Amino acid sequence: RQGWLDRLKAGLRKTGSSITTVFTGTRIDDELYEELETALLMADTGVKATEHLLQDLKRRVKEAKATDPSQVKTLLTDAITDLLQPLQKPLAIGDHQPTVIMVAGVNGAGKTTSIGKLTKHLADEGLSVLLAAADTFRAAAKEQLAVWADRNTVEIVSQQGGDPAAVSFDAVSAGRARGRDVVLVDTAGRLPTQTHLMEELKKIKRVVQKADGTAPHEVLLVIDGNTGQNALAQVKAFDDTLGLTGLIVTKLDGTAKGGVLCAIAREKPIPVYFIGVGEKLEDLETFNAREFAQALLS
Ligand code: GDP
Repeated sequence: RQGWLDRLKAGLRKTGSSITTVFTGTRIDDELYEELETALLMADTGVKATEHLLQDLKRRVKEAKATDPSQVKTLLTDAITDLLQPLQKPLAIGDHQPTVIMVAGVNGAGKTTSIGKLTKHLADEGLSVLLAAADTFRAAAKEQLAVWADRNTVEIVSQQGGDPAAVSFDAVSAGRARGRDVVLVDTAGRLPTQTHLMEELKKIKRVVQKADGTAPHEVLLVIDGNTGQNALAQVKAFDDTLGLTGLIVTKLDGTAKGGVLCAIAREKPIPVYFIGVGEKLEDLETFNAREFAQALLS
């Protein structure tokens, strides 16, 4: 666990170092706050969260009667922790069999890798998992998912050139019939231009619901922590169409745009169930607001 925190610290160094240099001076003055504003914006914290943090920080500085910039750094860590707190919520798998988790994300975000990691995480908790290969457009998607299924020795439901909604329906039905705990539905991240991705995802959601009245129980979006404000735009767009219940933020083992979590907390506070800190199966961690804030400003 400790090794992981060091990795997160190292990963966020590119984001954090420009922020922490602001506190190397000797005075707390307008210049400090201006530099901090620039650094936060550069880290993709976004205008709204940056304004909020600066106001909150100034209040804390006044309250604490702080005189040294290094104290301001500690107070900013507290402010960021409080801002991120609403995002800290664990993924809870209920008793319903199967719990259906639909996973979306644009190509390259790390969706397939995250599904592999999530499968391991759930299997480690003693849950039986079934994968649905509903990304039927991308030629390699099914094979990639099958590799992760093999690594985790779990079942996978797929169809050669099949319809994504049909695959999802079959998988949920199979999960019910076989009494599996969780069905993870991998969806497409991009389609041939003539078809609309969001329409397809909505259709999968509808069909999954037909297969099991209460499903999907979770709708997750995987976003690349390296894409900053672009990731926030994806969260907004997917939430508008699908109604997201959680996020997985990947690639926090090396990003200059880690401030985007603050932007998400301020503008679309959807729980961050997990963060990705590497390419390996075990490189998935639960999100903790204070750990993240401390790693960012370490
Ligand atoms: P998909 O297109 O969304 O399914 O993306 P993939 O799962 O294929 O991942 C795209 C690339 O990102 C691959 O090279 C992955 O190894 C890499 N990747 C995914 N998650 C992480 C992460 O948390 N950290 C790092 N460093 N790389 C990641």
